[in-house]
Amino acid sequence: MSEAELKPLAAKVNKCVSVRVDCDFRLAWFERRSIEEKVKALESRIKDFEYFLKDHRSQDDINLSVIREYEDQCSLCGDKWEIYKDEVGKPSCASCGADIA
Ligand SMILES: [Zn+2]
Repeated sequence: MSEAELKPLAAKVNKCVSVRVDCDFRLAWFERRSIEEKVKALESRIKDFEYFLKDHRSQDDINLSVIREYEDQCSLCGDKWEIYKDEVGKPSCASCGADIA
């Protein structure tokens, strides 16, 4: 077996890179507002929600969801998946230079 045959090959892997909880305050008039008006409305809404957490008042316009963000990465170096092609069109990982499987 030659040295070239022993080199590991890179492959695209889709990994979860971030996780967060997204709380959506559905305000019917919201889309017609400027960004500053939205900020003020959300700050006000957050205060209401904090009060709810202490008081258990009805707040049925609140949706909670877990959001996962995915990114294609190189299986060898873990960097964002990007293909580099040399002058003859041979593909490799643009970050670590490994040949692609
Ligand atoms: Zn790589």
